[in-house]
Amino acid sequence: MSSSIEEIASVLGAERFGNSEGRIDWILTDSRSLCFPEETLFFALKTKRNDGHKYIRDLYNKGVRNFVVTDIPEDLAHYRHTNFLKVGNTLKALQKLAARHREQFQVPVIGITGSNGKTVVKEWLYQLLSPEKVITRSPRSYNSQIGVPLSVWLMNEHTELGIFEAGISEMGEMESLQHIIQPTIGVITNIGGAHQENFPSLQDKCMEKLQLFKDCDVIVYNGDNELISSCVSKSLFTSREIAWSMKDNERPLFIEHIEKDGSGTTIKYRYLGFFKEYRIPFIDDASIENSLNCLAVALYLMVSPEDIAARMEKLEPVAMRLEVKEGKNGCVLINDSYNSDFASLDIALDFMSRRTEDKKRHRTLILSDILESGQPNKLLYRQVADLVHSRGVDRIIGVGEGLMEAASRFEVEKTFFRTTAELIESGVLSSLRNEVVLIKGARAFHFDEITDLLELKVHETILEINLNALVDNLNYYRNKLKPETKMVCMVKASAYGAGSFEIAKTLEDHRVDYLAVAVADEGADLRKAGIGSSIIIMNPELTAFKTMFDYKLEPEVYSFHLLEELIKAAEREGVSNFPIHIKIDTGMHRLGFAPDEMPRLVDRLHRQSAVIPRSVFSHLVGSDSERFDSFTRRQIETFEKAAAALQSGFSHKILRHICNTAGIERYPGAQFDMVRLGIGLYGIDPFTNRILHNISTLKTTILQIHDVPADETVGYSRKGVLERDSRIAAIPIGYADGLNRHLGNGHGYCLVNGKKAPYVGNICMDVCMIDVTDIDCKEGDKAVIFGDELPVTVLSDLLDTIPYEILTSVSNRVKRVYYQD
Ligand SMILES: *Cc1c(COP(=O)(O)O)cnc(C)c1O
Repeated sequence: MSSSIEEIASVLGAERFGNSEGRIDWILTDSRSLCFPEETLFFALKTKRNDGHKYIRDLYNKGVRNFVVTDIPEDLAHYRHTNFLKVGNTLKALQKLAARHREQFQVPVIGITGSNGKTVVKEWLYQLLSPEKVITRSPRSYNSQIGVPLSVWLMNEHTELGIFEAGISEMGEMESLQHIIQPTIGVITNIGGAHQENFPSLQDKCMEKLQLFKDCDVIVYNGDNELISSCVSKSLFTSREIAWSMKDNERPLFIEHIEKDGSGTTIKYRYLGFFKEYRIPFIDDASIENSLNCLAVALYLMVSPEDIAARMEKLEPVAMRLEVKEGKNGCVLINDSYNSDFASLDIALDFMSRRTEDKKRHRTLILSDILESGQPNKLLYRQVADLVHSRGVDRIIGVGEGLMEAASRFEVEKTFFRTTAELIESGVLSSLRNEVVLIKGARAFHFDEITDLLELKVHETILEINLNALVDNLNYYRNKLKPETKMVCMVKASAYGAGSFEIAKTLEDHRVDYLAVAVADEGADLRKAGIGSSIIIMNPELTAFKTMFDYKLEPEVYSFHLLEELIKAAEREGVSNFPIHIKIDTGMHRLGFAPDEMPRLVDRLHRQSAVIPRSVFSHLVGSDSERFDSFTRRQIETFEKAAAALQSGFSHKILRHICNTAGIERYPGAQFDMVRLGIGLYGIDPFTNRILHNISTLKTTILQIHDVPADETVGYSRKGVLERDSRIAAIPIGYADGLNRHLGNGHGYCLVNGKKAPYVGNICMDVCMIDVTDIDCKEGDKAVIFGDELPVTVLSDLLDTIPYEILTSVSNRVKRVYYQD
């Protein structure tokens, strides 16, 4: 649902600078989350630590044209076609806009508050209610003063029910959240001591939370909780209540019996005189309580007890962010370096202690200070130490001042450092052997650097990559584009063998619009290494959706089957408006929607809000050859029509792209909104097979030289028959490194000191032999497999293949070395 910038200015009562037209679909407060610049309104929020105004220039450069600010930029004249809405307080403005947005909808809205379990209750309600209703809900646990308005903004004309969390950390905050959510159904999960520091008492906190329910039709809560019950009666709401109880059979929802067994819990209840039951696949008390709150809401919304029971049985646990990886020296790494609070530390330690396959291993915890816990450090780290002891940690490596001060509390093997850098320099990390290592740190500690060091990587012979040449190639193709045409750079298959990270980093520095990889893991690796650019996944595996959501990797979607699975996964993870890229099959007949499937696709996309098309594209079959020119033109025509059919279903701009490298060169009229540059970036002109700027050199070193008499043979199966007395050099590269075995027995050659040295005999797995009889060389000299003087296209011609295959065959154990000249 979009609003004009004019309407928004008037809702906010803002002073407007600039008078460009603008339609707004997206609200942005974190510049790193930018996705749809053209339709985005950025709120420059000021917090204690940061000021959104700092990012305005950068966002402008990325295409954002609408800003809500408190301070107008001094260089206002430099912003063209841009609107600045000046307000007194950008956070208040954001909240006001969201509240107005909410007022447009006459649908039931569930507001959830409480100390624990909000997200689980929200997700489970979603699982229980979504079969009947189109639901808009808070993504993950967006429940703050900023998160709530962003969540509510997601409501649109399809929404039939809203479910939003509200979290507060001090007195007075709930009122603003109530204005934004305006819930009709209220749920309070429980009241505990978390985030207590800014409340005079538990009762004050409870009363404050109940402010959310001021105008609700019904309130759901645990009637056996005396604090909540007494606060509800004090707050004098006129709304109905469903206070469920296990003790008081006068209550409308009475829980008769709870029985746990090995795999789940069966719960018998009485509601409006009927006796019913359901079962959940969990046995812990928190899950049982959460399910009871969900039960009450579902009954109130008149879901039948039979449907409730069927869906309860299938409830899924709410996703956690933990990764397990293979580490160096036989270690297993559990990486949870995204956040660090007491509760998530507990979850992670629990996870570590439950990995039965690692039972006998030494357990090491690498932990950073826990920031913003709201508790005094003394108390906090006493609890952390208790946790460490009770969860069976053998050794703690702590980073940060707080932990350092609390060092004496830990009664296990221990080492402490002030900073992550100190830990890395200490060499302690390389002493870890055959253990399970949990890495858990607040973002600010950059524990990803630790993970990087501990992760297993193997390397040998080198592939040298010239990053300047890469940039030259990029600019060569950029110069062929209209100024407004965007570019996707293909870094799939480890950037055509060149190594994804450094290539992606260089491209990011040169501000390309998108990167594209084949599979989710490639994308995740880039994210972990710090790549922030938008990334497209060309072959999204059904098993990797969570990785994509976690790392904001935007999948290509080519079929209804894939789309359904993706929507399902997104809904399960609480993800909404996730950008996707629609592929149309215009003649490749590999992957893609048929052009005539667009109306059905539009219809399906309208009936959900988990994903949203960011771009639409197709792939050319023969753009590098004149022979196929008429076919190529037909593909372009078909694409244009199908793209138009898709676009007609949406108000936001969907980017269109069809050209690959050869297409950029040969079809300047088919640039549409974006192009996809692949092989050209890596220096090969696919039309002429000539090298633009060579970026990669695969080289190795002569290990040993033998003088071998004529009529001896070299290598396996006596294949290398010598017709003259020869000097034979052995080099440490074989087919396991990607050196094609068909180059052996004289079919191919490498260069030693600039001269051709033919491969003699069969190429082995890790080594091969070359004839250097006529070359002045010695052990330790370099041999070049391909590079400036021996273009990769010579090898591909010899092998009757394409340069893509040679480049991507260089195996991972070959170390990549990057340089800039
Ligand atoms: C690999 C790929 C490209 C790049 O092709 P080049 O010929 O290397 O330029 C473009 N689009 C898609 C869909 C691809 O898979």
